[in-house]
This record gives sequence, structure tokens and C-alpha cells, in this order.
Amino acid sequence: MKILAFGTAWFSNFKIESGITEESNTWHFLCVLFDYVDVNIEKNGTNQNVKLKLTQTDKEDVTICMRRFQSSMQEMSAGKIKVEYDIVESNTPITSMSHDEENGYYVSGYNVKEVIDPFIAQGKYDHIFVAFRTGDINQQGLIPINDWIGLGSMEYRGFGFSNIRLPDDDHNYIYKYDTRINTFPEEVMVHEFLHTLERNTQEYGWERPELHDNEKYGYQSQKLVGLKKWYQDYMNQNIQTATKKIGIPAEIYTKKPAKTTDFEYSRQLDDCFHEPENIIEEFSNILQRVRNLFSMVKQISAQN
Ligand SMILES: [Zn+2]
Repeated sequence: MKILAFGTAWFSNFKIESGITEESNTWHFLCVLFDYVDVNIEKNGTNQNVKLKLTQTDKEDVTICMRRFQSSMQEMSAGKIKVEYDIVESNTPITSMSHDEENGYYVSGYNVKEVIDPFIAQGKYDHIFVAFRTGDINQQGLIPINDWIGLGSMEYRGFGFSNIRLPDDDHNYIYKYDTRINTFPEEVMVHEFLHTLERNTQEYGWERPELHDNEKYGYQSQKLVGLKKWYQDYMNQNIQTATKKIGIPAEIYTKKPAKTTDFEYSRQLDDCFHEPENIIEEFSNILQRVRNLFSMVKQISAQN
């Protein structure tokens, strides 16, 4: 993300709190269906306004995929994670998009903050999916994006944040369960969420293979199920290398983002320095809060 801003930001009266992290392996997902996209973008050197709309089929496909995502995550991880989710539909349009060289146009948390911030404030959710249309790069007048269907490894206010791009027409099978074509239509959600676990694992200082390195370890996309076997071994530390088995550690499923509800019984941090037990958790909470603060700074800069 490129932000060009100059100036000085001042903060006063903020305190660092420590909280009690909720360490269950249940993750609450928020999936926001954006009914409308109405953005000005630049294409072929000219500014264009693009209006797009989710169809009823899009909404049904995402709803079915989220249900499948819930059971698949539990099954594929052999019970290491439990998924709860809410799907909400927003008729507030997406009116701005972010852009970079690698991905083209995409939606960052800041682009839809008016819609998602009130949900984040509830303190319930651990990860956010946003689903919308962007159209096809090859079609006149639609939004140029590079070749992605989901986009992950993003963060918004300390939460994992992923884009789910609906295909350009209802005849695409990417999100449709069909015994002859695709029996793993929730793959995009699985893939994008695993990017967040991949990133979290690295931030905790643990080793993990890169999610895109499946071929390096001998895994190919298969008919009907895509890279399901790879994800399964990735989630269970079951990828065989010459010396050991690798993947993401089981502990990562209990490391969820710090939420407002974690701070209900918070205390001033100077207390903790007298009782250093659990110091790693204290620090991870502090890091999360500092990250949130940086998100706020970024956001303020972006508005300037
Ligand atoms: Zn990816």
C-alpha cells in the first residue's frame, strides 16, 4: 500500500493495557457481502466509473461455501480449529478501492471501514471476509485486477482480512459444488484464511512453509479438489521433508487477534511488571495494541 502524506500526528492520553486473551480454538468469521460496487478507477489511462452488483446466485454460492468452509476447516485440521460465522449483506456500496502493481485493484479494510468498524466494535470477530464483484480485466469498462480470485494476508486493525472476488458470470464453477467439476468450492476461503495463519505463525517467530510453495514439496492441484491435500498437510504439520514434518503449529489455532472483549478486565500495565508470569501473552497483547495504533496512524495519514 502506498500512502504519501506529510505532517505530524500527535497523540496524548493513551495508555497501554494488558488483557486476558481468550485461548479457545473457536474462530468467529464475519463475511460481508457487498451488494454494490460503485468506484472510479483508472483504466487504459482514463478515469472510468464502474458499477457492479452481486447476483442472487453469487449470494447463494458464498453462503454455501461459508457453510462448507466451517465443516471443512474442522475436518481438515482434525478438530484443531472450530469455525463460527455470520454472513451480513451490505447495501452500502464499495466506493473506493486500493491499488498496487502486484494485485491491481482490491479492497482494503480502510476502503470499507464505515461498514466493518461497527462489527469490529462488537468484539466478537476474529477474521473478516469481504465478498464483491470486480468484473473481468479483459472486458471493456470493468475493473482491471490482476489474476486473483481471493486475496489474503492482509490485516486491518490487527485482524486478518481477505477479499473474496465473485466471478464475472454465474456460469463459473469456482464457488459451485458439482460432483463432476468441483467438490471443494470453499477452497478460496480456506486458502485466504491460511494466509492469515501463515502470517501469524511467522509473527510468533515459528517456522512455517510458504503457502504458495506446494510444488516445492511435491503437491499439485488435483481435479475436483484442487490443493485440498496440501492444505490439510499444511494445517496438521504433516508435510514430509527429508528431515522432518512441517506445517503450521497446532498452537496457532488458539492465537486469535486481541479484541475489545479481551480487555474487559484489563489492568494498567505497570502492575504486570511486578508479576511477570505469562509475559509472552502480555507482550503479544501489547504488540496487537501497538499494531492497532499504527493502523490508526496510517488511516489518519491516508485521510490527510
Ligand atoms: Zn495465495
